[in-house]
Amino acid sequence: MAKPLSDKPLRPATLLVRGGTARTNIDETSEALFLTSGYVYDSAQQAENVFLGTEQHFQYSRFGNPTVQMLEDRLAALEGAEACRATATGMAAVSSAMLSHLKAGDRVVASRALFGSCHWIVSTLLPRYGIRTEFVDGGDLDAWEKALSTPADLVLLETPSNPMLEIVDLRAVSELAHRAGAVVVVDNVFATPLLQRPLEFGADVVVYSATKHFDGQGRVLGGAVLGTKKWIEEVLQPFTRNTGPSISPFNAWVILKGLETLHLRVPAMCRSAEAIAEMLETRPEVSRVAYPTLRSFPARELAMRQMSAGGTMVTFDLAGGKEAAFRFMDALRIVDVSNNLGDSKSLITHPATTTHMRVAEEERARLGITAGTVRFSVGLEDVDDLLEDVAQALDALRAG
Ligand SMILES: *Cc1c(COP(=O)(O)O)cnc(C)c1O
Repeated sequence: MAKPLSDKPLRPATLLVRGGTARTNIDETSEALFLTSGYVYDSAQQAENVFLGTEQHFQYSRFGNPTVQMLEDRLAALEGAEACRATATGMAAVSSAMLSHLKAGDRVVASRALFGSCHWIVSTLLPRYGIRTEFVDGGDLDAWEKALSTPADLVLLETPSNPMLEIVDLRAVSELAHRAGAVVVVDNVFATPLLQRPLEFGADVVVYSATKHFDGQGRVLGGAVLGTKKWIEEVLQPFTRNTGPSISPFNAWVILKGLETLHLRVPAMCRSAEAIAEMLETRPEVSRVAYPTLRSFPARELAMRQMSAGGTMVTFDLAGGKEAAFRFMDALRIVDVSNNLGDSKSLITHPATTTHMRVAEEERARLGITAGTVRFSVGLEDVDDLLEDVAQALDALRAG
């Protein structure tokens, strides 16, 4: 056993570089990549002991893998959670968290403003299995109170939400949910564990797409579910072991290495996002800007209570609708048109025709997504180059 890193609680940057690292007897500096599906036993007797649970040993990489475990231990330390299980994608994390906990006859309450596939799980998949589901406007506490005045089993929410950056009151909703008998699952992708720690506000389970800021360099898919040791081992684990949403050890290794710079990347992206949001507010071609630290942002005070910075995403409306949005996006030279987010490369997307294309028009309107809405994932390029790129693309709209 290596000596513990410290007798005191360590800060996020140290945990991101060192947390969970388990060196082998080779004494490697970088985390080892165990690209293996199975493991061998000393003897038939040892195999029996391992399957009986009387001896600890890796069995099969669908159940566990040393590289994957390093990722899980690092994420748990960072989140301040007792346990973590990594998954192949963010959607594997969300669907496993929900399906492992729920059964026919249960009731789910979710915020309306969810990532597209999360919305599909709640609106379409769960009802097929006899689970009742209800959506509420995430920013409306009265709506939560009403929906949670009848017993519920699970609450799913996202804050800030994709793409309108709606803020949900984590503490208030967690209290209402617990009184209704529900566990609270928070999709914390937009905030990252560096800006917002839902467990401290009363949430029970936190889910991530590691594809986004954790890798942050556009290479691999991954996800994670975090919660108490009891819930992870007794509720989630039997489901994941037997249904197989396991992450590849290679992808886990890439994400481990990505995490080592998360504390440098995310604050830099937030600073640039804020500068871009402020600049957009001064432009006549832009009719609305959503960014949590702007004075004009309706839920600014709540956002600042829950988050230590505004995040890496800026969502805004071009006054000229879809035509202006498309022309603006096509005029950008540095920023790429892409539906991914949280990447070191700045990316821009038009939600109404891509990520939210399958959401019914009236539902889109309810979410505040218009034909002119664009979602900007701010990357790590020099902020002045980004500001100039955005400005020249807005100028191009005027040029006609
Ligand atoms: C991307 C994303 C997901 C899904 O993650 P994948 O890794 O693409 O499966 C879930 N929730 C939010 C908020 C996301 O941005």
